[in-house]
Amino acid sequence: MSSSKRRRILAPRLFSLTCVRTEMSDLKVADKLSGQRQRVLVVGAGIIGLAVALRLQQDGHGVTLVDRDEPMSGCSAGNAGHLTEANIFPPLSLELLMQLPRLLLMRDGPVVVRPSYALQMAAWVRRALPTLNSDTKEQIVTTLAAMSLAAYEELKLLAQISGAEELLHRDGAIYAFRSLEALDKKAAALAVWQANDVKVDRLDADELAEMEPALCRPLAGGFFFRNSGRCSDPKEFGMRMFRKLANAGVPFHKARVDDVQRTGDGLRLTTSSGDLQADKVVLCAGYGTGELIRRLGGTAPLASERGYHLMLPQPSIALRRPVAFPEHYFIATPMDNGLRLGGTAEFCQPDAPPDYRRAHAMLGLVQQYLPGTSGTDAEPWMGVRPSLPDGLPTIGELTKRPGVLYAFGHGHTGLTLSGITASCVSALLGGSAPGFDFSPLDLKRFE
Ligand SMILES: Cc1cc2nc3c(=O)[nH]c(=O)nc-3n(C[C@H](O)[C@H](O)[C@H](O)COP(=O)(O)OP(=O)(O)OC[C@H]3O[C@@H](n4cnc5c(N)ncnc54)[C@H](O)[C@@H]3O)c2cc1C
Repeated sequence: MSSSKRRRILAPRLFSLTCVRTEMSDLKVADKLSGQRQRVLVVGAGIIGLAVALRLQQDGHGVTLVDRDEPMSGCSAGNAGHLTEANIFPPLSLELLMQLPRLLLMRDGPVVVRPSYALQMAAWVRRALPTLNSDTKEQIVTTLAAMSLAAYEELKLLAQISGAEELLHRDGAIYAFRSLEALDKKAAALAVWQANDVKVDRLDADELAEMEPALCRPLAGGFFFRNSGRCSDPKEFGMRMFRKLANAGVPFHKARVDDVQRTGDGLRLTTSSGDLQADKVVLCAGYGTGELIRRLGGTAPLASERGYHLMLPQPSIALRRPVAFPEHYFIATPMDNGLRLGGTAEFCQPDAPPDYRRAHAMLGLVQQYLPGTSGTDAEPWMGVRPSLPDGLPTIGELTKRPGVLYAFGHGHTGLTLSGITASCVSALLGGSAPGFDFSPLDLKRFE
């Protein structure tokens, strides 16, 4: 990060808005701003919306935040806190494709498709098929790797601005394997990670045991991602950004956004509690963005890929860093308030009742790897991942609706990529460009 870029982001705010958390009967809009600075409405106060809002506020724009719910109450509230450099592959592989018919029939596997979601799933998989092509896959991998490698520093910058640095840790992360066969199968991925500058080493059984003494022995070995990290309280991290914005006078409107229309001098948002005016709008509403984009005439093939966590406040064992168990599709991350087990993929209607047995099942699994883990006072949670079929998030501006920008579809890595996403949105509004080509993230790829 160049010192000039750092100075620009940390520069004091250039203007001040006055109303914070307005009543909807009292909606105000910022006065027209001069020069490059614009009135920007950010829809969604999850980790993506908050990172975007903070970045744009630091750039000098007149930001307003809107969410139908309280900040950080969606998918971002309970993620596993893994700041990963490993997730650079599209979700569909030939192996997974072969397993799909069986998954459709399974009730309790790590990846399940509920029967009521079968049609949506079929359409989503059809959209994912082109990623099996090696050229397409390579472009996705290259883009995700570039984003992931820049992600930690961008997030750290937002943490500095919002006084949340102590919540970020960069001690690496581990993938641990029980079977040598499964570990060897991943050797192909190792070559791709290394070719894309991800700092990763293969660990044998002794090295793994030395790095994480709580793991049972013998495991087959694993991978150590040197530059991955963790956030030890993801909800608090987002709330620090929200409080920083509130203290800077950025208004927060609690309202559902239903539509965006162009008016003579900008854009008008129709919300459940009245209209709002702006020069630009950024849609960062997670899974909810799909519906908004459709209403605006666009295409956003989002799947509702629900995931669960089980929070263990008194785990009785300690890990030093996030440890993922790819054979069982879950991860254990040390948090400030205990050990969090996160994972599983349940493709189903987003508002179907949660099946918390999926969260509790992770306790039995983790005890196979971390003997003696205690489930006392364990608390389950469920969140809806906004997942796109090619594994890339989308960041851009709607061609048919100039001035309407979007940043959503971060699937399994929204926390990790929130800072770099904010940097891309900043570039779309005249800020400096991030050091990689983010044009592949445009929604046009689905048209
Ligand atoms: C179990 C689990 C573990 C995970 N682990 C990790 C991890 O370790 N590392 C990682 O990087 N990522 C992880 N993720 C993924 C990450 O949590 C998501 O990618 C991220 O939270 C998405 O953030 P978001 O801001 O886009 O969505 P959300 O947090 O869902 O925020 C969207 C907001 O938009 C609002 N909204 C929606 N529609 C409207 C509307 N019409 N009007 C107004 N407001 C609206 C919602 O109320 C919500 O507050 C995990 C996810 C799950 C489920």
